[in-house]
Amino acid sequence: MEHKEYNVVVVGGGAAGLMAAGTAAMNGNSVLLLEKMEKTGRKVRITGKGRCNLTNVCTDEEFLAKVQNGAGFFTYAYTQWNNKSLIRFMERKGVKLETERGGRVFPKSGKAWDIAQALVDWCREEGVQVECNAKVEKINVVCGKVRSVTYRNARGFQRKVETPAVILATGGASYPATGSTGDGYRMAHEVGHEITPIRPSLVPLETTYEEAPFMAGLLLKNVHADLVIDGEVAQSEFGEMFFSKRGVEGAIILRMSRKAVDALIEEKKVEVVVDLKHAMDHDELRERILREIAEQPATLTVGELLRKIMPRELVVPMAKACGAHAKHSMGELKEEKIERLVEALKHFVLPISDYRPFEEAIVTAGGVDLAEIDPHTMQSRKVEGLYFAGELMDIDANTGGYNLQIAFSTGRLAGQLRKSKDVML
Ligand SMILES: Cc1cc2nc3c(=O)[nH]c(=O)nc-3n(C[C@H](O)[C@H](O)[C@H](O)COP(=O)(O)OP(=O)(O)OC[C@H]3O[C@@H](n4cnc5c(N)ncnc54)[C@H](O)[C@@H]3O)c2cc1C
Repeated sequence: MEHKEYNVVVVGGGAAGLMAAGTAAMNGNSVLLLEKMEKTGRKVRITGKGRCNLTNVCTDEEFLAKVQNGAGFFTYAYTQWNNKSLIRFMERKGVKLETERGGRVFPKSGKAWDIAQALVDWCREEGVQVECNAKVEKINVVCGKVRSVTYRNARGFQRKVETPAVILATGGASYPATGSTGDGYRMAHEVGHEITPIRPSLVPLETTYEEAPFMAGLLLKNVHADLVIDGEVAQSEFGEMFFSKRGVEGAIILRMSRKAVDALIEEKKVEVVVDLKHAMDHDELRERILREIAEQPATLTVGELLRKIMPRELVVPMAKACGAHAKHSMGELKEEKIERLVEALKHFVLPISDYRPFEEAIVTAGGVDLAEIDPHTMQSRKVEGLYFAGELMDIDANTGGYNLQIAFSTGRLAGQLRKSKDVML
């Protein structure tokens, strides 16, 4: 077996790993970055629907409020290197950025590729040695200190590289086709770290609502929705959602999925209750329907009438909900049925039965237990010379550019390779 030696070995060439490797090299270290895929930054290249929402220009308080788990832990890393630092960094690397609705920052070119390439070029300029198709299998620890890592190279041969410092940045378990298959959880566990159970987050949800399969393709804009867990409103969201063949998706569903997934795991009753006519209260909506009925010729069917006030895909579900038949004459819509229609439009209940798998999740909730990592250095409190960065840790945030910023800020801090002052556990 061939032997090599580096000051630092970074495992995983995603957002966190590239940032950590470049930073460590910039600080004068000899750095080897091992990436198991054929190229680095595969996930970064598909983020934000190929446009990469790399951060958010909100205030520090607003930013930390979007971190669903680990906000306290993340605070130090973020204050050391925040959204402004990242924006400055990218602009210095020649990537022009622009800010969109909701403070979301994207490259002006509209290409996530530019963000990944800026990081890869920077690493090369700083002298990082990058080896792709290199799957790390083990972190070798002797007497509580990192000694080396073992990996399999492109030809399938095992290699060992000596190093006193490893930055583990293997990402989560979501979108495994990008290389993030959760290897880091096993490697961290093998050297003594606890792993908080991992589960998909920012993920579509499945519904048992009987009409849902016929509603695939329906996009609902400007709707208000409540996530109801065991009869209590757990979260409220406003925005868009859509029905797909797999269930319900879109911004508001993804934002609610974090709590929904945990509630489903705990076998609680989960519903998404949508207010399809948020701009009108019950009385205004009833008036609107009555006005529509009065203005239309009596020959109109229930379906034709409903089509005037809602998208095509909702006509049959809403007719059924109010106990009418879409093909019958609208004269059938008497007071009681109109009342039921108003109720159905204001409280459109989708029973949630499951969540979609890691393959469709934007991030992974859970991961390396934060209590065992020093937030001031990202160094393990269990193994000297072992550092963590990115989604592998038990931190996750909402949509809006927060997750990439977490990867960049923690990667930046880990790359400083500051020694933890903590006593090892
Ligand atoms: C479709 C999609 C869209 C997204 N859009 C956004 C967005 O617009 N904004 C945002 O903030 N967040 C977004 N995210 C989330 C964001 O991409 C991640 O949170 C972020 O990439 C995590 O960075 P990371 O470096 O920790 O992990 P990753 O980017 O997953 O990188 C981990 C790397 O480690 C490598 N690796 C794994 N195991 C090994 C091993 N054994 N040996 C060597 N290498 C290994 C992997 O191949 C991978 O390259 C999106 C995620 C997805 C899936």
